[in-house]
Amino acid sequence: MRFNNTKTAFSLKSNIELRRAYFLFKLISYPILVRLGKYIINLSIKLRLPIKKIIRMTVFDQFCAGVNTKDSMKVVNLLGSKNVKSYLHYSVEAANTEKDYDDCLSSTLDTLEVSKGSSFLPFSVFKPTGYGSSKLFEKRANNSQLTDDESLAWKRIIKRFEITFDKAKSMGISVFVDAEESWIQPAIDQIVEQMMIKYNKNRPVVFHTLQMYRKGRLNYLKELNEKSLQHKFIVGIKLVRGAYMEMERSRAISKNYPSPICDTKNDTDLQYDQAISFMFDNIDRFSMFLGSHNEASARKAIEMAKKAKIPNNHPNISFGQLYGMSDNITFELADLGYRVVKYLPYGPVKEVIPYLIRRANENTSVAGQTNRELNLILEELDRRKTS
Ligand SMILES: Cc1cc2nc3c(=O)[nH]c(=O)nc-3n(C[C@H](O)[C@H](O)[C@H](O)COP(=O)(O)OP(=O)(O)OC[C@H]3O[C@@H](n4cnc5c(N)ncnc54)[C@H](O)[C@@H]3O)c2cc1C
Repeated sequence: MRFNNTKTAFSLKSNIELRRAYFLFKLISYPILVRLGKYIINLSIKLRLPIKKIIRMTVFDQFCAGVNTKDSMKVVNLLGSKNVKSYLHYSVEAANTEKDYDDCLSSTLDTLEVSKGSSFLPFSVFKPTGYGSSKLFEKRANNSQLTDDESLAWKRIIKRFEITFDKAKSMGISVFVDAEESWIQPAIDQIVEQMMIKYNKNRPVVFHTLQMYRKGRLNYLKELNEKSLQHKFIVGIKLVRGAYMEMERSRAISKNYPSPICDTKNDTDLQYDQAISFMFDNIDRFSMFLGSHNEASARKAIEMAKKAKIPNNHPNISFGQLYGMSDNITFELADLGYRVVKYLPYGPVKEVIPYLIRRANENTSVAGQTNRELNLILEELDRRKTS
């Protein structure tokens, strides 16, 4: 499978949308323009210049589904018409107060509520630090003694997790718990394991996220397998490579501890593929969502599934990409009957700017990915001209 069927990949995009995407990917392939763009956007916001419309028509529409859930349903239904499911995330970042955490819980519950009327939304998601303070997660991760106030705050975090999963369970939906930095992740691991034992008896309501750029995560996956045998639950796994490599490495240097990140990209890739292989060998106990834009990984997963005689539409295997990226993988897999789910961020234009800046940064740092997007768009525009 070469993931180069541009007709399938871009069947939902008009010529104008393709040209806009080309323009954007071209811009973000130049780090200096990304830096300049960030500066101009931040300055314009400070000076209250009317830039929302320009952002909405360009980078927002490329990478976000809408400003609210109602708006986003147009994209959800469009993708659904091509056998691509979605999950919505209110992508407003930086929660710091108890009110922010409660608001974040409400937005997750809203996305679950929207899923009620649509078979195109089988998943929802939240970031643990949207539900509570990073400092508190870090203290828990270090087994530090909590003050009375912190113990109460911790109980409120657990409650927010439970409210989310109770609702998801009653609605037949699954929820991804995003993975975060290694110094808070042990606390997240602990809660998610407890929640999987509680909620995943009959079906995977709770999905843990494993970052395979971290040394030792394959062993952790094997430990989860043992725990699932012991406690009789289904392990839900969102498998990713990991998003915070630079931060992890520089913190390890500045605090003088060994980097938790694999030494090479090849080591990360190997762990990623080995994790898939391990889950395929235990497919009755694992429900997996392979979140990646790496064509080679998707290809390998398909080959492994074929070898193991696992059907394309096996309910325990889904693939996922971010909205606005790698449509060649998404739509080709969906066309072949695989379960594919797009991550759809939404929110007020001004509020999702940090998310959009991260998208620009990530695309700039993965040069191969951006060139691939550019070439595919050009191929499709050429194909349309000649056909
Ligand atoms: C649907 C979806 C959900 C996601 N959810 C999360 C999440 O909850 N938490 C999270 O952290 N990330 C998440 N991500 C982001 C993900 O972890 C990756 O950062 C991103 O997808 C790029 O990896 P890739 O497999 O797509 O592509 P690739 O280009 O194959 O891989 C790039 C990744 O490889 C790793 N890498 C690169 N260079 C090196 C090196 N020198 N040494 C070791 N490793 C290296 C890094 O993880 C880098 O991000 C998600 C991604 C998707 C698509």
